[in-house]
Amino acid sequence: MNGGPVVGWIPFFVSGGAFVVRVSRVQTGSIADEMGIVAGTQLRTVNGRELADFLDWEFLGADDELVIEAVLPDGEEVVYEVERPEGEPFGVELEPPTVRRCANRCEFCFIEGLPKGLRKNLYVRDDDYRLSFAYGNFATLSNLKDRDFARIIEYRLSPLYVSVHATPWEARKVLLNNPRVPNVVEQLTRLKDGGIQYHCQMVIVPGLNDGEILEQSFTDLWNLGDAVLSVAIVPVGVTQFSHLYSGRPMDPVNAGILLDVVERWEARALAERGDRWVFASDELYLLAQRELPGVEHYGNFEQIENGVGAVTSLRQRVAEGLDTLPRLDGRRIGVVTGVSMAPLMPELLDQLTERTGAHFELIPTTNSLFGPTTTTAGLLVGADIRRALADRADLDLALIPAETINEAGLFLDDERFVDVRESVDFPVYPSYDFIDVLSMEPATPAFAGAA
Ligand code: SF4
Repeated sequence: MNGGPVVGWIPFFVSGGAFVVRVSRVQTGSIADEMGIVAGTQLRTVNGRELADFLDWEFLGADDELVIEAVLPDGEEVVYEVERPEGEPFGVELEPPTVRRCANRCEFCFIEGLPKGLRKNLYVRDDDYRLSFAYGNFATLSNLKDRDFARIIEYRLSPLYVSVHATPWEARKVLLNNPRVPNVVEQLTRLKDGGIQYHCQMVIVPGLNDGEILEQSFTDLWNLGDAVLSVAIVPVGVTQFSHLYSGRPMDPVNAGILLDVVERWEARALAERGDRWVFASDELYLLAQRELPGVEHYGNFEQIENGVGAVTSLRQRVAEGLDTLPRLDGRRIGVVTGVSMAPLMPELLDQLTERTGAHFELIPTTNSLFGPTTTTAGLLVGADIRRALADRADLDLALIPAETINEAGLFLDDERFVDVRESVDFPVYPSYDFIDVLSMEPATPAFAGAA
């Protein structure tokens, strides 16, 4: 589910076809290794039950006594009987699962707002309750069948992360651009009755799911009691390519009105439940030009991956890490960031300057791929970073947002980090919170010029 500009990397297959659970790696010396299971082995059944995917293996394979039907890569069919010491892992890793595709065309879909020509897997619209449980991806539940509900409840896949957006059925059909979308209140009630809890999010589109629709949505979620662990309210974000979008813009006035509603429900939740229950995303505070709450506001930062409390968490990590930093007197350090984060940076850079003696220069950078309405630092692309650092031979070091690069070292525009880094004569480091890079000793490569 890709309602917002979250950059991540989830391993899964895009292709369809029959479900196959296949081993990708066997740990040396493990039970599986001793039994002769090798990479490429297909696991068919466990204790007589067919395996459809990694979830079946994870849950059915958790018993200590197993009868496993498998097919080796050469086609030989084998039955393994396993009795293992309690808690000892079996020792296999599985090939990534086939992702379940999304049946919606949401107004605000980030995938629909991507420019053409990017790498293929960025266009995958997943809506998969299994990834919701395993990785915290949000899912709309639109494509859930009866057997999926049964699995969720049998395997206790809790908590799930659910994109609710609106509970009134007609409004939700419009938002998700899907006339066949099920009634989410009935779905959530079924899960609740099965003992499943969930974190919810609502991406708010002015004119479509604010006002009375939002009130009704809060009321419906509230009535689900403690099945709803938290609700995140996220302002819609569109790129210059978001061709499906028909709502009004999320301007500071709309953001302020929305934040007032959130704070009213938050006050009710604090009074009646003892926790805040509903959280506005950082972006909403920034748009409404209001101060972000402190650390105590966010509890366990349950929805930090959804941009709820990320700035506060960064402030906390910087404050806690300052003492670990060395003196870096006279160093000139460039800090590349997006336009929306830029106003929040000076307070952090002042603290870093006071502690280290280095001179920090903020380099706010616009997004050349998604257009000027996309201001998130994590969505800057390689070309933007390259442009921001060109002709900056005066710097000793540059820090760029670590979220801009995936695990393969690629920016969203397929530029390789190593190429961008080698395009300048000073070290360039991806950083999550300044402390991660600056706490290295001055003698380390970061400051010796060998990036
Ligand atoms: S269309 Fe699908 S992938 Fe896009 S935001 Fe909606 S649910 Fe997510």
